[in-house]
Amino acid sequence: MPTTADLQSFIFSKAYINGQWVSAESGQHFSVLNPADGTEITQVPDMGATDTRIAIEAAEKAQAEWSSLTAKQRSQYLQQWADLIEENIDVLALLLTTEQGKTLAQSQGEVRSSINYIRWSAHEAMRINGEVLPSSRSSHFEYALKLPVGVVGAITPWNFPNSMIARKVAPALAAGCAVVIKPAEDTPLSALALAHLAAAAGFPAGVFNVVTAQHGQAVGAELCANPIVRKLSFTGSTAVGKLLYEQCAPTVKKLSLELGGNAPFIVFDDADLDLAVEGALTMKFYNSGQACISVNRLFAHESIHDAFVKKLTERLQGYTLGVGTDEKATHGPLINQQALHKVTEIVDTAKQQGAQVTIGGTARTDLGPNFFDFTVLTEATPGMELFNTEIFGPVVPVYRFSTDDEVLALANDTNYGLAAYFYTENTSRTFRFGRALEYGMVGVNTTSFVSETMPFGGVKESGLGREGSQQGIEEFLETHYVCIQNKD
Ligand code: NAP
Repeated sequence: MPTTADLQSFIFSKAYINGQWVSAESGQHFSVLNPADGTEITQVPDMGATDTRIAIEAAEKAQAEWSSLTAKQRSQYLQQWADLIEENIDVLALLLTTEQGKTLAQSQGEVRSSINYIRWSAHEAMRINGEVLPSSRSSHFEYALKLPVGVVGAITPWNFPNSMIARKVAPALAAGCAVVIKPAEDTPLSALALAHLAAAAGFPAGVFNVVTAQHGQAVGAELCANPIVRKLSFTGSTAVGKLLYEQCAPTVKKLSLELGGNAPFIVFDDADLDLAVEGALTMKFYNSGQACISVNRLFAHESIHDAFVKKLTERLQGYTLGVGTDEKATHGPLINQQALHKVTEIVDTAKQQGAQVTIGGTARTDLGPNFFDFTVLTEATPGMELFNTEIFGPVVPVYRFSTDDEVLALANDTNYGLAAYFYTENTSRTFRFGRALEYGMVGVNTTSFVSETMPFGGVKESGLGREGSQQGIEEFLETHYVCIQNKD
């Protein structure tokens, strides 16, 4: 366990622009709070449009040099960054727990995932190949290059403050782009610590910039409107994603949007119930339900419904809510008061609409300001408000179903299309539902599929583009076609 002094040496109270630690032009700053007890960790600059413009212009200058390096050189910078993150994984995990609340084990897992994304991007950097094209004229030689799109703006949420940076920045840097990152108000410290390690890894000034702000609007508006920024990569809510989509239209920016979800989790009558319970527990309660791919609607076949709910509830009794640094805690608090009020309201409304609380159902003020109990709601029906609400908390509503057609229609009855899961031993059903669920990612008899090698992303209002895999790098490249005529 790192000491308090170790942690302090990774807490930065300034933003990072053009290789310098800087204050906001306005002199304003805001507090970063520990969600477990509400105490202030530090204050960071509250930046606006002018600071963002300075960062964008620094990135533009750095971009020229960075994109002219060889792929191998860029790859070596990324590997060096990953090495330093790995050396400091314990303190980065503690920092993450301190600002975000998740347990140390979950924070370690998140930082490990960042390292994997960075190393994957370092390898992929050396496989960005163009194409020699079969020309339709014998006198012509034609080829297509893959070139970096240009300066990238990245806006990230608070639920995975370390890995969300790695998933965007590593492929962008691998492709030859310089980046300007705006982390979430609640969790800017992991981003600043990653900038510190990027500096230690020797990235040239201006390649990696972090602009902190209390409210994303001014920074976001500049990132969208500024013509120097050629690509915006956003992870966050669908509402903000739609706004950024609109704001990027005047400059016709390339966009990646990783937005909200409403994941169905279907347990068929032939499912391995123990496996399904483990899957549901993992993907509902991980990060205390604050993940875009969290189970949001659990559909249990009527013949196994009661047995499933009993097992789920029994297993939940073995979980312990607590401060993330407490070894006994399996799960931490919600991010802030607003989140706690939202989850409380969702549960109260569901109860008024007829849902039954099997376990939990209330805030745990005895533990701290932002804790909500592990909650299972039964007798949930599609007419209830929470059927179309991203819960973003440790609450699982269970819906009964009786036929395959019925549950397929219910699962697809949403504007979201990020992740879906189902449990069955039937091969025909596996193929049918694997294809027919209108989601970017489908887990069959598993909920553990996120890794740097898979294309992560959604369809419908869950977003555009993919992170991870070769596709994740492609998002930061443009195709540049050249045709040469041989005059002889
Ligand atoms: P959010 O409110 O949309 O915020 C996300 C980021 O956008 C934050 O950095 C926020 O800054 C910034 N922002 C807010 N309003 C903005 C504006 N008008 N212009 C520019 N930037 C703005 O979402 P959140 O509550 O932090 O995150 C939870 C959401 O993210 C959920 O819907 C979840 O499903 C989604 N998510 C999706 C994925 C995915 O891969 N699909 C992954 C994780 C999370 P401030 O913090 O300063 O407001």
